Amino acid sequence: MSEKPVRVRFAPSPTGPLHMGGVRTALYNYLFAKKNNGTFIIRIEDTDQTRFVPGAQEYILDALNWCGIHATEGPGIGGNFGPYVQSERKELYRPYAEQLVNEEKAYFAFDTAEELDAMRDRAKQMGMPNWQYNHVTRSGMRNSLTLPQDQVDQLLANGTPYVIRMKMPRNRDVRFEDSIRGWVVVNTNNLDDKVLFKSDGMPTYHLANIVDDHLMEISHVIRGEEWLPSAPLHYLLYEAFGWDCPVFAHLPLLLRPDGNGKLSKRDGDRLGFPVFPTDWTTAEGELYSGYREKGYFNGAFINMLAFLGWNPGTTQEIFSIEELAEVFTLDRVSKAGAKFDPDKTKWFQQQYLRNKTNEELATLLKESTGEQYDLNKLTEIVHLMKERATFIKDFLIEGDYLVNRPTSYDEQTVAKKWKAESAVLMNEWMDRLEKVEPFDHVSIEQAFQLFLSDKQMGVGAVLPLFRLLVTGTGMGPSMFDIAAFLGKEECLGRMNKGIEVLNA
Ligand code: GLU
Repeated sequence: MSEKPVRVRFAPSPTGPLHMGGVRTALYNYLFAKKNNGTFIIRIEDTDQTRFVPGAQEYILDALNWCGIHATEGPGIGGNFGPYVQSERKELYRPYAEQLVNEEKAYFAFDTAEELDAMRDRAKQMGMPNWQYNHVTRSGMRNSLTLPQDQVDQLLANGTPYVIRMKMPRNRDVRFEDSIRGWVVVNTNNLDDKVLFKSDGMPTYHLANIVDDHLMEISHVIRGEEWLPSAPLHYLLYEAFGWDCPVFAHLPLLLRPDGNGKLSKRDGDRLGFPVFPTDWTTAEGELYSGYREKGYFNGAFINMLAFLGWNPGTTQEIFSIEELAEVFTLDRVSKAGAKFDPDKTKWFQQQYLRNKTNEELATLLKESTGEQYDLNKLTEIVHLMKERATFIKDFLIEGDYLVNRPTSYDEQTVAKKWKAESAVLMNEWMDRLEKVEPFDHVSIEQAFQLFLSDKQMGVGAVLPLFRLLVTGTGMGPSMFDIAAFLGKEECLGRMNKGIEVLNA
């Protein structure tokens, strides 16, 4: 690890909502900073104005906030290295690009878009589909390396549009060590002369990213694997400026549940799970669902994400974000792509739900339902349904019969259990119930056991009928708890009504 203080950044481009892969990148940066007493910074990379999507920046900041991934420096937070939005830093990039031109590490290129298209077409016709502006082809193009100096001066003086391109060195092996991937070696003959500065007066991602990482004293660049192909160029840019290169760590891809390819924005709703932290509605009104609105706890979502590409090396699976920050290290991040598992994601949510107290859950339930239920009643409902619920909303869906009388009776149970003699049997049981005092779990259960032995019947012949009449369902939590919760009068009322309906 480098000696410098740890400073890491999450640098999203506001080109749309934040995919969960992006949240994982932010999370690992955050955890790495915490673990190393470092600083976590958010920087918005919005130099590509053609891809700017209104609302995306707000979405990203709000989503990170919901996740509990809080930055020490960033837009709306401040810090000594701001501004933290690249478009607000616009003026500072040009001198860096010009410096490289002056040092002959970059050059002006005057080729118009039409000329470049014509060149690509010609190359295609000649059987070269992947034409690139590079160390070979640059000599046939209109740039400050091929044109005489006075012509270049003239073009610049006339305000002719130009870009500044990196003069990629010829046939050099670029070698750098990535904390996750090990040594990476790329020959510069395979790299093109990337544009560093655009004709609209804005830097490209590459230049702005390097200049800002340097100025913001970033020690480690932790980002998605899709940026690995850009890393050799970035390494050469640091070298060209004579700056220290930060440590690189490229995170593994998130894969679809079947392992077949990268998890994309479109996959989520198509495969039945969200790929975004929070809901996102496009300008066209299309809704992409998010974990927050689906009812996931932020802790469960973060815990699940942490394990997509990292493991603690122990069997412990449940970690709060603070606990993650204590154990997170880059050497436990895997190289291999991480398969997203929707079932495991639900499992994390269930664990988080079960780890909350009944009172906490009842309070959340009260907040989530507009209706004015009594908190004690909700706490009892939570107690009854906890093992069966995954989300807060499940308590009242699964446990609807705790609040409302059944309006239908589970067909399968009726077909299997409701016989001609069932009404008589249930009436006898109701006579017993009538006398149970106090009407609590223990007394109801005692009366029930006695009833079974008097009748010489098994649980399976009586309990399902009792449940059917009271709840309308074939399965659920303890019937003695449910009956006690509803109270004697309600219980008997429901049973009478049920017998009436089923015998009709
Ligand atoms: N702006 C880039 C992105 O959208 C950042 C890549 C990096 O971290 O260098 O992912």
